[in-house]
Amino acid sequence: MIEDFWRKWADPNERLKWIQKLITEKPRHPFAFLWRNESWAGVAARRNLIGLKLKRDEPLRQRLIKGIISEQYPKGGFRSSVGWTGLRLLQLSELGTHFDHPAIQKALEWLHNRQDYDGCLLENPRIPTAYPSLWGEELRFPPMAVGVTAFTLCGVLRWDRESSWVKRAVLWVAKQIAESKNICCRSCAVHAIHALSLSHHESLLVRLAIERLLDWFAEHQDEKGEWFSFPDSAFAILFGLGVCPAPEARWQIAKALPILAAMQFSDGGWGRSFRAEKTWLVTKALIFHELLDAFLDLTERCPWLVRPKEWLEKLPPSLDEPSAAV
Ligand SMILES: [Zn+2]
Repeated sequence: MIEDFWRKWADPNERLKWIQKLITEKPRHPFAFLWRNESWAGVAARRNLIGLKLKRDEPLRQRLIKGIISEQYPKGGFRSSVGWTGLRLLQLSELGTHFDHPAIQKALEWLHNRQDYDGCLLENPRIPTAYPSLWGEELRFPPMAVGVTAFTLCGVLRWDRESSWVKRAVLWVAKQIAESKNICCRSCAVHAIHALSLSHHESLLVRLAIERLLDWFAEHQDEKGEWFSFPDSAFAILFGLGVCPAPEARWQIAKALPILAAMQFSDGGWGRSFRAEKTWLVTKALIFHELLDAFLDLTERCPWLVRPKEWLEKLPPSLDEPSAAV
């Protein structure tokens, strides 16, 4: 039976049939929401989560890549900002741009030139250290925060883990986390754990830093599974824990499944704004930790844990708030 499933899964035509059946039968499945979404997160979900390179997506994908690259400055950076350049590298990777594309090479080279002697990536003092997160929240980092380098590395490490300058930046982040007295803030922490996990760097320092971050997130998760006493924090935390292979990351996400179910809308998507991005992010984390089936079981057993779709029109986007749902 299982063998049969994998044989079918390996065949794109069979997979296409499987997903078409799935989205008609299970309208609350996150794939049902992502299947037709025309944003980069929708394309990324279909290519990288569902594993289908659809012909219908090609014009959109090319347009999105072209749009991003058209913003690149001649020297290789985006907005002369290390953070923005990292963000664009992340999006270009999810959209399946080729590694040898000159835009990628130029961006990496530009970042390399922005590296400080101790390994961190420094923003030019004239450039604000405020970036959009993938889930739609604006992040403001203190200029010297570990989060600036970590945020940038989340994009860089999708392209290059092996260059010595990248490894130096990874070790700098790990050192800041492992050796500092306090964890700076939630934004620094989620980007640091995302970057350190992607780095696959096998050093004690990186391991210690990841352990410290996992402990910190666990300390800020309550009995209900909510982090930082605010359900919407889940998007940020899942960005971090969703790529961290440690079992502790999985336990925390498993504990949060009821919260995630209560935050989902009945069309399968999360959030009132940046819906595709949020849904992509949650789904990716659930798939990475092999928790998607457990999540779907839960939503079938407890169908009342859902936000009616009508709420999307009734409430303004700023009210991605918990209180109304629970
Ligand atoms: Zn911080």
